[in-house]
Amino acid sequence: MADGGTHPDHGPRFAERAPEALNNPQLRRNFRRAMDGLMAKRAAQFPDPAYWQELRERGAAVKARALSKLPELLERLEANLTANGIQVHWAETTDEANAIVLDILQQASARTVIKGKSMVSEEMHLNDHLARHGIEAVESDLGEYIIQLAGEAPSHIVMPCIHKNKDEIADLFAEKIPGQPRTDDVDELTAAARRVLRERFANADAGMSGVNFAVAETGTLVLIENEGNGRLSTTLPPLHIAVTGIEKVVEFLDDIPPLLALLPRSATGQPITTYVNMISSPRKEGEKDGPKAVHLVLLDAGRSRVYQDVELADTLRCIRCAACMNHCPVYTRVGGHTYNAIYPGPIGKILTPQLQGLEAAGDQPHASTLCNACAEVCPVKIPIPDLLVRLRREAVRPTEVAANHLPVVKDGGAGRSWTENLVWAGWRTVYTHPLLYRAVTRALAWGGNWMPAGAPLMRDWTKARAKPRFKPRTLHDLARERGYLGEAPK
Ligand code: SF4
Repeated sequence: MADGGTHPDHGPRFAERAPEALNNPQLRRNFRRAMDGLMAKRAAQFPDPAYWQELRERGAAVKARALSKLPELLERLEANLTANGIQVHWAETTDEANAIVLDILQQASARTVIKGKSMVSEEMHLNDHLARHGIEAVESDLGEYIIQLAGEAPSHIVMPCIHKNKDEIADLFAEKIPGQPRTDDVDELTAAARRVLRERFANADAGMSGVNFAVAETGTLVLIENEGNGRLSTTLPPLHIAVTGIEKVVEFLDDIPPLLALLPRSATGQPITTYVNMISSPRKEGEKDGPKAVHLVLLDAGRSRVYQDVELADTLRCIRCAACMNHCPVYTRVGGHTYNAIYPGPIGKILTPQLQGLEAAGDQPHASTLCNACAEVCPVKIPIPDLLVRLRREAVRPTEVAANHLPVVKDGGAGRSWTENLVWAGWRTVYTHPLLYRAVTRALAWGGNWMPAGAPLMRDWTKARAKPRFKPRTLHDLARERGYLGEAPK
């Protein structure tokens, strides 16, 4: 059952995968319905724009302050966790993190692991790594459990199986869970998953989880969730291993309330999640439950390189709420699998190229309309469109960018083909020569509608969209007629 799922990070790029998603009406319906609902629920949580702005200022300030002293806070976190009895491990790469987790599990002779939700473990492809060494890892978050059964990767960072509807899940359960009759009754489906997972919780040798916030001041791991599976994964088994990126550290316990006020509201439109777990130590003398040993693996995997750049370091403020995805006109049409990356949507478009390099993911920043919706809803004020533009420039003009910034993104300059160079050179020529510009726009206004949908330049547009209708008069004509050209409007 714990087959680990398929893994993104390689294979076809966004532009190659997008037409498949756009031509799948069921997928588009599933996403549209889910995202519209999430947008409405989030909006209902922030009815007062002044309060929203004040809260996000506080959230952004907490994360910015933590990042400004990241090395110092990480050391303080390690010291306080260690004093509390939690063992801390540092991993520079995902391979190192996998090796650390495997070693801890092997030392404990663990054969089965029950997991709470963790995007960092997805980044590590941990389930596959453990399976190769004979250790079964079972996802216990309902959404993650469903996609693990389906052998898929998450399509959303908060709701990993949002791309599936009830009927698809009913078919999947009937096929994959032994003895499960087909039903599309949601309560019965949930009960079936609970039946399987209860047995897993009771018998797992180890539990794993991610971390939402790690508090340096007290050495506390904060984990929020709705299903209780995170609490069971970190309480029932005798061993708990948490994995997290180094950017999740915050300075004080007092920093947590504004973040807790922002994260669930932005993510699912809930005022607060059902469970807020604060893990401060393994089981103490005289306590009846809790793991006997707790480990934390702090993963770098490119984050310290991102941290070196004043502008890109804002990416590390992210609290993984997914509001940017839910509001992105691109993500909501094509869904998460199209990105072929662990982190999809707007945050993925800036994070993936920074972690993996522009050679591997340099097309991701281009998969955006730059409409700014992501920046408007981001609870920690990450200027995503600015960073998309920065990465686009870095992909095509690394030397120009390097004059102002450290060239921190791997493989700069990898993103432009010779045809693209040619098109942009032509575009620049047209735009910098007024006479030529007028001639070309007039020719398009006059002849554009005669151009067949399959003509070379038109084809790329009409592959997934209706053919545009050119107006007979140009914008310049209209502006001149209304007195807007070359002078202030009358
Ligand atoms: S970038 Fe902002 S909106 Fe997007 S997941 Fe991160 S915190 Fe949420």
